[in-house]
Amino acid sequence: AAAAPRNFLQEIIDKDLAKGGRCAGRSVKGDVIRTRFPPEPNGYLHIGHAKSICINFGLAQQYGGRCHLRFDDTNPAAEETEYVESIQEDVKWLGFDWGENLFFASSYFDQLYEWAELLIKDGKAYVDSQTVEEMRKLRGNLKEPGKDSPFRGRTPEENMTLFREMRDGKHKEGTHLLRAKIDMKSANMNLRDPPMYRIIHKEHHRTGKKWCIYPLYDFAHGQEDAIEGITHSICTLEFEAHRALYDWYCDNLPIKARPHQFEFSRLNVTNTVMSKRKLLKLVKEKVVDGWDDPRMPTICGMRRRGVTPEALKNFVMRIGVTTSYSTVDSGLLEETIREDLEPKVHRRMAVLYPIKVVIEDFPEGKVEETQAANHPSRPEEGSRTLKFTREIFIDRDDFNEAPPEGYFRLQPGGEVKLRFSYVIKLKEVVKGKNGEVLELRCTHDPATRDTMPTDRRVRGVIHWVSAPHCIRPAVRLYDYLLRSGTPGEEAPAEEEKEEEGDDAKDSKEDFMKELNPDSVCELKDACLEESLKDAKPMERFQFERTAFFVCDKYSTPASLVFNRIVGLKENSHK
Ligand code: ATP
Ligand code: MG
Ligand code: MG
Repeated sequence: AAAAPRNFLQEIIDKDLAKGGRCAGRSVKGDVIRTRFPPEPNGYLHIGHAKSICINFGLAQQYGGRCHLRFDDTNPAAEETEYVESIQEDVKWLGFDWGENLFFASSYFDQLYEWAELLIKDGKAYVDSQTVEEMRKLRGNLKEPGKDSPFRGRTPEENMTLFREMRDGKHKEGTHLLRAKIDMKSANMNLRDPPMYRIIHKEHHRTGKKWCIYPLYDFAHGQEDAIEGITHSICTLEFEAHRALYDWYCDNLPIKARPHQFEFSRLNVTNTVMSKRKLLKLVKEKVVDGWDDPRMPTICGMRRRGVTPEALKNFVMRIGVTTSYSTVDSGLLEETIREDLEPKVHRRMAVLYPIKVVIEDFPEGKVEETQAANHPSRPEEGSRTLKFTREIFIDRDDFNEAPPEGYFRLQPGGEVKLRFSYVIKLKEVVKGKNGEVLELRCTHDPATRDTMPTDRRVRGVIHWVSAPHCIRPAVRLYDYLLRSGTPGEEAPAEEEKEEEGDDAKDSKEDFMKELNPDSVCELKDACLEESLKDAKPMERFQFERTAFFVCDKYSTPASLVFNRIVGLKENSHK
C-alpha cells in the first residue's frame, strides 16, 4: 500500500529521526520522540483540545515514543482540582493513556525559582516596580519601539533582595514584577522585557500557601519541557511569536537537552465557541446547563450529546494538521458523527409530532405482534417486537391534505406503507371546530403485512407507533449554540497577549449576542415505541427517518429523556 500522506509535523519528526537525533537535529541519545499535552486546569476540555490530544498522543503512538499529560497549573487564580479530574477523564475517554507520565508544572516551582535567581545573578532579570499602566505605556507597540523602565538599571543585589521579599510575601499584588532583561526595542513584542514572575496572594490547588509569586506561562513552559525531556513541544499558532522567548530562556539557562516548539493552527468550528473562558461564561450565566450540556463543544458535552470517541477522533483526522487559520464547518463534524453512528446503532420507531390514525377495519382490542430488525443491514443485531393496533400515531409531516406533485406519503384517497406493517389507505380526515385535524380514518390491506402489493405501486413508507403501547418520554432537540460563525475567533492580532486584556477581548467579542434562542426545544407529546422504555442512559439509537438519539446521561426509568445527537441528513436538524 502507498504510504499515507504525512502532515508537516510527521515530516519534521521523520527528518529529525533521519539525522539520528532529536528535534532540529540536536543529537541526544535515543531516537524516540517525546510529546506532551499541557492543559491548564482552568476549565473543561473542548474539541479543540481533542485535536491537540490526538496530535500529541497520536504522534507518540506512531513513533513509539511517549506523551506526557502535564497540568500547566502556574496560575492559582483560575485553577481547580475539579478541572484536573475532568481533564483526565476526558483524555481517557478519548482512548489515550499517559501511563506513568502524569506531571504538574507546579512540581517545578522550586526549580523555576532557582532559575529565576540565576537570571537575576547574571544580570538578565530585574524587578520592575512600575504600575501596570506605566509599564504598558513604555512597552510601545508594533510601530513604536518600547522604552526602558526606570527600574531596569537595578543591580543584581537590589533585584535579589526585592525578589526574595516578593517571595516572602512582603509585597502586595501588582507592586512588583520580575522581568527578563532582553530588549525593549525588539520588533518581537514578546521580547520587550517580558514578565517572569508576578505576585498572587492565593492558595494553589497543589502547593497550598507555599508560594505567593507564580511564574508566567512563557517563563515556565520551555523549562518544563526541558525538565521532562520533551523533544517536540507542539502548540497552537498564537504562540509562534513566543517561540523566540521560549528559546531565549532555554539559551540562557543551564539546559542540556533542548526541546523545540512547533506550531499548528487551532481548531475552530462554526456555530460554536472554542475557548474555555467563553465556555465558562456560558456556564456561569446559566445559558447552558453546565459544562456537560449537550450543546457545549466540550468533550463532556459531546459525550453527553451521544458522540462517540471514535467520531471525535475521525473528525480530527479529517481536518488534518496545518499551519493556516481556518474555521471548520459544523456540518463536517455532524457528518462524521452520522457516519460513525450509522453502522453501530439500533433502529427504533418514534413519532415526534404525532397525529392519530384509526384503522377502521382492524378489530378493536386486537394486538398484532411483528418482529422488526434492529439494523437494516446487520441481521446479527437481532430484532425487537412491535405491536400493531387499531389506533396508531404517525408523524404529522407524513400527511398532507393538499399534497404537492410527487408527494408519496399519506393523502386523501392515497395509500402508504407502514414500516414493518400494512399498507393503509386514507378514507377520511376528521377535523375539529377550528379546522384542526383530529384524526385520520384509514383502512388496511391485510395482504401487505410483510410485503408490498404487486398489483399497484405504493411508494411511501412511513414510521408509526401503536397508540395504546407507546411511551411519551421527554424528547429534547438540540441545535447550534450560536446562530452564525465564530465571532471573535479570527487569527489573534500580533499584539494580543495571553494573560492580559481579557476585558478588552470581552468588549470586542459579541458571541453572547449571537446565541441561538432555539438551541434546545423539548417536545411535549412525542410518542416512542414501547421497547424504548428499557433504554439505558447513554444508549444510542436511530429513530427511523428522524435523527440519531441518545438516552440522556441523567435519564431514569421513571423519568426518561432522549436527546437528539444529530439529524440523518445535512441540515436536517430543524
Ligand atoms: P482556551 O483558549 O480554550 O482556554 P488554551 O489554549 O488556553 O485554550 P490550554 O489548556 O492551555 O488551553 O491548552 C492545552 C493545549 O491544547 C495547548 O497545547 C493548546 O495549544 C491546545 N489547544 C487549545 N485550544 C485548541 C484548539 N482550539 N485547537 C487545537 N489545540 C488547542
Ligand atoms: Mg492556555
Ligand atoms: Mg486560553
